[in-house]
Amino acid sequence: MRFRAVLGTMAAYKPGKKVVSPDGRSYKLSSNETPFGPPQSVLDAIAKAAAETNRYPDNGGERLTEAIAGRYGVPYEHVALGPGSVTVEQQLLATVAEPDAEVVYAWRSFEAYPLLADLAGVTSVRVPLRDETHDLEAMLDAITDRTRVVFVCNPNNPTGTVSRSAELAEFLDRVPEHVIVALDEAYREYVRDEDVPDGLDHYRERPNVAVLRTFSKAYGLAGLRVGYLIAQRELAEAVRKVMVPFAVNHIAQAAAVASLAAERELMERVEAVVKERTRARETLLGQGWEVPPTEANFVWLRLGERTAEFAEHCAGYGVAVRPFPGEGARISIGDAEANDVFLEAAASFPR
Ligand code: PMP
Repeated sequence: MRFRAVLGTMAAYKPGKKVVSPDGRSYKLSSNETPFGPPQSVLDAIAKAAAETNRYPDNGGERLTEAIAGRYGVPYEHVALGPGSVTVEQQLLATVAEPDAEVVYAWRSFEAYPLLADLAGVTSVRVPLRDETHDLEAMLDAITDRTRVVFVCNPNNPTGTVSRSAELAEFLDRVPEHVIVALDEAYREYVRDEDVPDGLDHYRERPNVAVLRTFSKAYGLAGLRVGYLIAQRELAEAVRKVMVPFAVNHIAQAAAVASLAAERELMERVEAVVKERTRARETLLGQGWEVPPTEANFVWLRLGERTAEFAEHCAGYGVAVRPFPGEGARISIGDAEANDVFLEAAASFPR
């Protein structure tokens, strides 16, 4: 056998361990999920679709594409679906991956970017965050003739920080037209700062801008895998072309359509998470932690060398957080009970 050399640098999958406290408590605050299960109307749609799974799904995702296009007031041809936005991002890279191609992204940012770049055979160019935030000026400087895609994660995972309207508009004006800008807005629904641009306001006049959204976070369908991209016709069509046939399954399509119909109910839940986010951050600040302002459903603590110790400490309380060893920990906002237990753990961490 002769595998691609890049596999030698890739870690094998290790199953995550469930964290349980000595008194049997377990809270998962490690994956930026919503703590709420799907509304009844979505469960009903899932049950109905489940009875039809002897058939292949609609490969074009017609109903869902129509629903997304209708929801955002964009043409049908501007929407491309995939099984989770992470896979849509993989599809996006597949449209440009040629020897020598480069992809620029901030670091630290979404941990899948390096993996997706490696899978596509594209070279990663990482631009360090400045003050936990995208350094768009430095990202512009990192663009070369070989650059095919720039990811801008807004809000950024794992820091929760944002790029604001004026700087993003200036950045987009200065990015060469041959470079695709992928605005990764997985956490868009949690944004409350009005100066954070909606990517959809930018893609209309720019054929090289793609907006990536997901049903996994605010819409609560992480386990079903549906994401999408909105971009002008040429780019959206390219991303549709490279989708693996039938990648978005029938139940997922039905659930996503039903979730859009249940949007009001779902956005009330998002609002509850946003309130908890404010409470959690203020409590942490009161405890003396430095916490970057966050517009997503998580908070970031830069713990440096003490990151692993902090994760262990939280595990003792039954709270699973997401450690990035040597850098910091990302803690998702859960329901009030989970957040209370986490805040108790944070308060008692010896500093
Ligand atoms: N982008 C960002 C920034 C994310 O944090 C995530 C999920 N962790 C995704 C994309 C992918 O989400 P999904 O594949 O579930 O749609």
